[in-house]
Amino acid sequence: MHPLRYEVVVRTDSVSAGLEAKFHQLAAERGFIHVSQQQDEPPHLIVSIGGDGTFLQAFHRYTEQIHHLSFVGVHTGHLGFYADWKPTELEVLVDSIELARQDWAKSVVKYPLVDIRLESEDGHENLLAVNEFTIKSEDGTLVCQININDQRFEMFRGDGICVSTPSGSTGYNKSVGGAVIHPSFEAIQLAGIAALNNRVYRSLGSPIVLPQHHHCDILPRAGQTLIFTVDHLHMHRSNIKAIRCMVAAHKVSFNRFRPFPFWNRVREAFIGQETE
Ligand code: NAP
Repeated sequence: MHPLRYEVVVRTDSVSAGLEAKFHQLAAERGFIHVSQQQDEPPHLIVSIGGDGTFLQAFHRYTEQIHHLSFVGVHTGHLGFYADWKPTELEVLVDSIELARQDWAKSVVKYPLVDIRLESEDGHENLLAVNEFTIKSEDGTLVCQININDQRFEMFRGDGICVSTPSGSTGYNKSVGGAVIHPSFEAIQLAGIAALNNRVYRSLGSPIVLPQHHHCDILPRAGQTLIFTVDHLHMHRSNIKAIRCMVAAHKVSFNRFRPFPFWNRVREAFIGQETE
């Protein structure tokens, strides 16, 4: 068995920095090798220390390599959806990593991603989102035709559109009225943001969930300057003709060294302790 190669992506606060130093020390004691992005040998494991936002940064730093690495997260704020180890559990985490090396695949769970294909006058661009892709117009109301599986579905007018993964369904998607979806579903969810719906402008007005073998195309009306977000990243574009969204062929891998059911995370994050 090769020694485990790992990298740490850390939030810029002193607590996270302290945990990073402790992680390196514990990892060195077990013979794990710390590699950086510049080195030839790619890491097996990316440890993100901070919050869900830190994981998003880690994911986009290593998007090209997601086929052969996995992530684990330590949260230094409140409970995260992608960061489920507490700072006090660092030693248990490192022991769990060492133990799992004997049957690494057994500890891995895989979550779907959104594949986004931008078609512009300049060509094609491919993006991957682990939470969501959103499109808005800089000029106010976004106007775009939505096709599903190459058939016209509706003409959307409103603030924007959010296309999320199941694991991203608890993020922005939830704030715009989308459903929370278990990450074992290979699906993407399309939710309108403040859709205009009256006698003149009609759209479905409900979020829709597309299975793995379907795709949707968003065709923005010409002349709009568009604002895209892919997770925490923002970009402005004015020459986009079409955006195709579908479930990506590849998933992102996480190491689950102990059970932590998704619905428990949802309850802890959004409901907490209820009084009878
Ligand atoms: P941010 O505005 O600094 O933080 C957004 C919040 O969303 C943070 O509390 C973050 O958790 C949390 N978050 C991230 N992914 C999540 C998920 N899958 N489920 C539940 N909560 C999640 O932005 P950021 O740190 O750059 O993160 C970008 C993400 O924020 C986007 O992908 C989007 O999902 C979310 N967002 C939400 C809204 C909204 O709800 N109105 C608006 C914009 C963006 P941590 O504190 O643990 O990092």
